[in-house]
Amino acid sequence: MSNADAALLIRGGWVVSGDPLIGTVKDTDVLVRDGTIREVGPGIEAPGAEVLDASGALVLPGLVDAHKHTWQSAVRHRCTDMDLMTYFGEMFGRLGPRYRPEDVYAGTLLGALSALDAGTTTLMDWSHVQNSPEHGDAAIRGLREAGGRAVFGHGWPLVDLPEWIMESSRPHTSDLRRIRAGLLADDDALVTLMLAGRGPELSTMDVTRADLAMARDLGIRTSIHMGSGRDFGAMAAIAQMNDAGLLGPDLTFVHCSENSDDELRMMADHGVGAAVAPQHEQGLPGIGHTPIDRLRGLGVTTGLSTDTETFGAADLFTQMKAALAATRSRVNIGESRFEDPPSAFSAGDAFHLATQGAADVLGLGDRVGSLTPGKAADIVLIRATDLNLYPVTDPVAAVVNAAHAGNVDTVLVAGVVRKRGGALVGVDLDRLRELAEESRRHILAT
Ligand SMILES: [Zn+2]
Repeated sequence: MSNADAALLIRGGWVVSGDPLIGTVKDTDVLVRDGTIREVGPGIEAPGAEVLDASGALVLPGLVDAHKHTWQSAVRHRCTDMDLMTYFGEMFGRLGPRYRPEDVYAGTLLGALSALDAGTTTLMDWSHVQNSPEHGDAAIRGLREAGGRAVFGHGWPLVDLPEWIMESSRPHTSDLRRIRAGLLADDDALVTLMLAGRGPELSTMDVTRADLAMARDLGIRTSIHMGSGRDFGAMAAIAQMNDAGLLGPDLTFVHCSENSDDELRMMADHGVGAAVAPQHEQGLPGIGHTPIDRLRGLGVTTGLSTDTETFGAADLFTQMKAALAATRSRVNIGESRFEDPPSAFSAGDAFHLATQGAADVLGLGDRVGSLTPGKAADIVLIRATDLNLYPVTDPVAAVVNAAHAGNVDTVLVAGVVRKRGGALVGVDLDRLRELAEESRRHILAT
C-alpha cells in the first residue's frame, strides 16, 4: 500500500470489530484506503481495490501493548525464576549499565518485531535504559525500523543508578526535550513520545512535580510504575500525587497491584489509566496480585501489557489468558478484597483490555483499538482454519482462550502489510538473529 490512492478490500472474514456499533459479524468486508479504515460491512463494492481474501480468517483490530521494556528482549527469560527484587538487581544493577546503544537497538528491534509477529500493532516501549542520548536514538531507530505503531517511553539512565532511583533529587534528563524537538516532534507519526517517569516511589515529590511539568510543557503523556510489591504500595504514591494535585488524564500507572482501593478511586476520579501485566503479576513473586478486577470495578481505564520478556512472553494472547485466569481464580476461591464485586469477567472483557482498553490507556483510543471507520488500518487476520482453532464457535473466545502468535496470518499497520501468510514482510531474520545473539553475548559476558 505505497500508492496513496490504492485501496485494499479485506473480503469475507469473520470480523471481531471491537466497535459496539458493528459488533462481531460473519462474512464481512473491511475497506482500507490511505492507511485508514473506510468501511466495515457485507458486500462492499470497491472497483479497482486490491482484494485480500479473508474467508477462513478472523479479522481483528491490531492488539495494543500498553507497557513493555523492549530493550530487554535480547536477554529473554533470564529472570523467570527470580523474585521482583532479584530481577531489579539483575537487570538494573548488573546488566543495565553494560548496555551499549547497539544493545538497545538490537533488543528493541527484536522485541518490536516479535510484537508485530504476534499481532501487536501498537507497542508502548518503556525504555528505562537511557544511559546516553545515543541510547535513546538507538531505541527510536529500532522502533521505526520494525514498522509498527509505537510510543517511545523515555526513561532514566542505569549508570549511577542509586542517584536516579533512591529518593532521587535529580530531575529527568533534558534529553527528553532534545528528542521532542527533533526525532519525535510529530504526534501524527507512527512513533510518538511519552515520559517513562519515576514518580514519588523513586524520586522526591519536587522531582515528580518538575518531571510532570516538563512532560506537560512538551505536550506528552507520562507513564509511572506504581505499587509493584508491598514496600512500594506502602508509600501510597498515588495518594501523594493526589494530595499534590498532580493526577490527570495524561497519566498511566503500571501494575498498581499493591495500591489501595482508595488510590484506585483517585485514579478513576482523575482519568488516570492503568497498564497491567497479569502473566507477570501472577507469576513474578513479590509484585502483588493483579488488580484487574479492582480496577474494573472502580472504573479505571485499563489495558494489558507484556512488561518484560526476561520473565514472560512477547505476545498479548498470553496476557489475555492470564487476565482471564487471574480474575476467575479470585471468584473460584471466594476471595473478594473489594466492596462491590465486579460482574463476571468475560473473554470479551479480556479482548477489550488488549485492544480498545490499552489504546485508551495510551491516549490513542480515537486512532486505534477497534475496526471503526476513520481509525487507522491496524488490522490482524487470524487463521481460523488452524487445527487449534477450527471449528470456531465463538471467535472472541477462540482468540482469548486458545489463539497464539502462530495463528497470526496477516498484520497491517496504517494499511501497510507487515506480515502475510504467517511471515513478517521484508525482515531479514538471519540478520536479526545475529544482532540479538551478539548483543546477548555482550550483555551476559562476565
Ligand atoms: Zn514494567
